[in-house]
Amino acid sequence: MSNATALIHSIPVDELTGALSVPIYQTSTFVQDSPGVNKGYDYARTGNPTRATLENIIAKLEKGSTGIAFGSGLAAIDAVLKLLRSGDEIVAVDDIYGGAFRLFTHVYEKFGISVQYVDSTNAENVFNAVSEKTKLIWIETPTNPTLKISDIAAIAKIAKANRCLLCVDNTFASPALQQPLTLGADIVIHSATKYLGGHSDLIAGLVVTKEKELGEKIKFIQNASGAILSPFDSWLVIRGIETLPLRVKQHCLNAQVIAEFLQTHPAVDNVFYPGLKNHHNHDVAAKQSKGFGGIVSFTLKNDTEAAATSFVISTQYFKLAESLGGVKSLLCHPAQMTHKSIPQEKRRAAGVADSLIRLSVGLEEAEDLVADLEQAFEKISSREKEIVRSNSL
Ligand SMILES: *Cc1c(COP(=O)(O)O)cnc(C)c1O
Repeated sequence: MSNATALIHSIPVDELTGALSVPIYQTSTFVQDSPGVNKGYDYARTGNPTRATLENIIAKLEKGSTGIAFGSGLAAIDAVLKLLRSGDEIVAVDDIYGGAFRLFTHVYEKFGISVQYVDSTNAENVFNAVSEKTKLIWIETPTNPTLKISDIAAIAKIAKANRCLLCVDNTFASPALQQPLTLGADIVIHSATKYLGGHSDLIAGLVVTKEKELGEKIKFIQNASGAILSPFDSWLVIRGIETLPLRVKQHCLNAQVIAEFLQTHPAVDNVFYPGLKNHHNHDVAAKQSKGFGGIVSFTLKNDTEAAATSFVISTQYFKLAESLGGVKSLLCHPAQMTHKSIPQEKRRAAGVADSLIRLSVGLEEAEDLVADLEQAFEKISSREKEIVRSNSL
């Protein structure tokens, strides 16, 4: 867990007024003393003090040199992709976030950038996929929604040897658990919509680079394209980050309890959680992160969309919604929701089964959450029995 004292005190007190909370500079422009002579800001697309505070905080948290705040996680991903040019190749994790898949294949392939998807849980697959055309390796770890773990340090070595950039989508772990730049990655991106914001009340994205020069390039792209985060939403993310270590600690504890419960349940086929000893890359997760996060996925023995639908409409505390990382527990059915844009065979091949259900374990009492899942299993089993009975009539 990252140092909460250091984090809380990295959030500055306002020098001008002593305000303990970071001021929201709700302005579009800044008065200049004479042309080009200003107090560090000229126009709020280029820079805003509230946004700059957030950018400094995330840069420190991720142990990078430059932080850049965007209007969404996808806008952050988009800015990184704009480092590439036509003819370049990307090697990406196969179990990639659905929105990233859509952006890579349906927007960037049109501009002559091709993507190869590989199972990066085995670094050798990445090694075999890179060529001299590869300019970017893109991984998520843990992945969404099957919680696959890739070895960041091993893949960073492959990127270095091939002189290409390694970008890690660190949304699921958050910097409270994992700091990819310290393991050799060049860029980290976040959907700050999730754990960093932490309260399901905003959409935001962040980029952090290890090197200042690369950070300047992405800042240039942001200023040129314009996908900035607003001052108010920057303030909300700062407010969320203040409690990040505390929240993440509890998310991890709750998720571990739920994963262990699911593992013993007769209606459950597979449970995906890096904190389980039988997880494929449990050792790698334990080596590179300080905890296993708040997302748990599982499949049903009755591996059908119908059974999953029946389950996800039967819970009370777990609300059916896309997104994750907030105070309230959520659940979703990726095949019909977040991963709908990925063709069925591709989705299944990446391990997203028809009945796969993803839980974003919130901050309620773990025993209440377990009881909620328990009653949902009972509901679906009595519904199934009814169907069998009415079919046999
Ligand atoms: C949500 C998410 C994104 C996209 O972020 P938005 O803020 O929704 O644009 C990217 N990567 C992962 C892993 C996510 O969960």
